[in-house]
Amino acid sequence: MNQQRRLSYMKAMGIPVWAARSCSVYDECLPVEPISEQIKHEHPHAPSALNLIDALDQPPMRQAAANSPIAQPRQEKQPPVSNSTSSSENLAWNELQSVVNQCQQCQIHQLRSHAVFGSGDQSATWMIIGEAPDVEEDSQGRPFLGKSGELLDNILAAIDLKRETVYLTNILKCRPPNDRSPHVDEVANCTGYLQRQIELIQPKVIVVVGRLAAQHLLQTKDSIGRMRGKVHHLQKTNTPVVVTYHPRYLLRLPSEKRKVWEDIKLARSVVNS
Ligand code: URA
Repeated sequence: MNQQRRLSYMKAMGIPVWAARSCSVYDECLPVEPISEQIKHEHPHAPSALNLIDALDQPPMRQAAANSPIAQPRQEKQPPVSNSTSSSENLAWNELQSVVNQCQQCQIHQLRSHAVFGSGDQSATWMIIGEAPDVEEDSQGRPFLGKSGELLDNILAAIDLKRETVYLTNILKCRPPNDRSPHVDEVANCTGYLQRQIELIQPKVIVVVGRLAAQHLLQTKDSIGRMRGKVHHLQKTNTPVVVTYHPRYLLRLPSEKRKVWEDIKLARSVVNS
């Protein structure tokens, strides 16, 4: 990992350049020393230098899509906590939420302000599943805020739904550093949480937005173009799943809204069937 990348990461974490320069993460002098007490005080969410390097060195999820987290949860290199599948089984809603809020299975927990469990109606007919919280969601502890969230609200409004009446969540409950793509191991650590949420909510339909979330949920490497336009079913619960584009993508390419509208109508037909 080059110094420039480390420096930009420290900047993204809100650690001022003077502080980054005084830290061994920037200087690359080994052995790696922890971030100083002063920086910890000013930046309580700053990771230790060692953990930062480990976190950044993991392979991004898109490079390892073959290791489907649902099919083969990977648990190596994790702290000695049981994985989320075994630790979530049979948990009631509040217990599950509290486990997620305290989860330390991946190193990214050190950077979070809040784990983002989800929001909405716990007995919703519709469940919307996205990728991961970003900076705003991390600071408020709620999913789908900002411009993407506004667009999602508008999409829901087009079929007379409000965000309070559906359930919104993500495949990853903590914000990845610098809003990078989630890593396979991180998503695998959250798989049990999402599975338990689906079991408890028992939605009539899941709309999964974005390629990464859809590939994870459906255990496939297919492109979003191949996944959308049909109704899939989850292996464990047989819940119907409709795949569509992420609102973030629509903000960049508004011409694709028509396809999303088709997908939403497909999901509505599942609910009404
Ligand atoms: N915010 C979320 O909660 N999920 C996404 O997928 C993107 C932004």
